[in-house]
Amino acid sequence: MKLSDLGEFGLINRIEKTFQNRSRQAPLGIGDDAAALFVSPGKTLLATTDMLLEGVHFDLATTDMYSLGWKSAAVNLSDIAAMGGVPRFCLTSLGIPQGISVEQINELYRGFKTLIRKYKVDLVGGDTCRSDTDLMISVTMLGEAEKGKVITRAGARPGDRIFVTGALGDSAAGLELLGPGVGRKGSKSALRTPHSALIDCHLRPTPRIEVGRKLALSGCVTSMIDVSDGLSSDLAHICEQSGVGAEVYAEKIPLSNEIKRTKDRLKTLPLHYALSGGEDYELLFTVPQTKMKKYRSLRMPAKEIGVITRGEIVMVNEFEERIQLVPGGYDHFKE
Ligand code: ADP
Ligand code: MG
Repeated sequence: MKLSDLGEFGLINRIEKTFQNRSRQAPLGIGDDAAALFVSPGKTLLATTDMLLEGVHFDLATTDMYSLGWKSAAVNLSDIAAMGGVPRFCLTSLGIPQGISVEQINELYRGFKTLIRKYKVDLVGGDTCRSDTDLMISVTMLGEAEKGKVITRAGARPGDRIFVTGALGDSAAGLELLGPGVGRKGSKSALRTPHSALIDCHLRPTPRIEVGRKLALSGCVTSMIDVSDGLSSDLAHICEQSGVGAEVYAEKIPLSNEIKRTKDRLKTLPLHYALSGGEDYELLFTVPQTKMKKYRSLRMPAKEIGVITRGEIVMVNEFEERIQLVPGGYDHFKE
């Protein structure tokens, strides 16, 4: 069905029905001038927003709408995870170009809903506009954390151990396997997504909500960030905001079996994707020496990769050489 047949308000009605939103936390649901939200007394409100732009963040020739919806939820949930929070509410704003069908928007919201339902997040509003250029999705996520337990990027101290969850680089390797898009606007015939676990990581990342929560409540963590720009960039963010340096060991950086198995089909070494690739949405965090025993007892799915120092940010390679680690992740405004 064409969007012009349904109209803006018809579409919003559909979205509202799909989400059946009137919950105890958001009794008005979608449809009024603003959402009215019940927040837990004594908690800190967390707010984050992330935009996904066609041509910049995704290509409709290689991304299906379900995955796009999933990912736009995931990247925002990941930011709440990185603060140690619980996600509660979200808003979605769309800029929709001509040629996108009602069915495609349905698929987008189906993917989005799968992920937000998993974390019991309510969709409470948004905005819907026509776009004269590309498809745009902007999501705002609201979450909560206990006062005094919000984990920022600024708390790392020399001697703290550096940890990262999961494996790094899969998403960037998956993006490379997807290749440059052909065609446009996600017509089913143009869509070509070869099958690979690396591509799945790129299209449908998993936000580490449970781990972020457990870490925040444990009191073992001094700083945390989600790996959205690549290890080298995101570690630099922690170091800069904490006023410290770091030493990471190349051999300890976690790489998946999948990326190792696929390495002959990739343009460069798996380690490169881990350092500069980004969009892994794993959690990078620091634990002080005094909390290590307690931290170990939590058995978190994370690997120790280095230590916070007073010096530069360096990587120690397999020959014990110390190489300066230069942020190599994506920068929207770099030429
Ligand atoms: P207003 O003119 O007051 O901004 P709108 O017509 O833009 O209202 O939106 C009507 C209602 O539908 C609002 O509650 C808004 O939050 C919600 N809404 C609009 N677009 C979306 C969307 N894409 N997703 C979720 N809620 C939406
Ligand atoms: Mg509006």
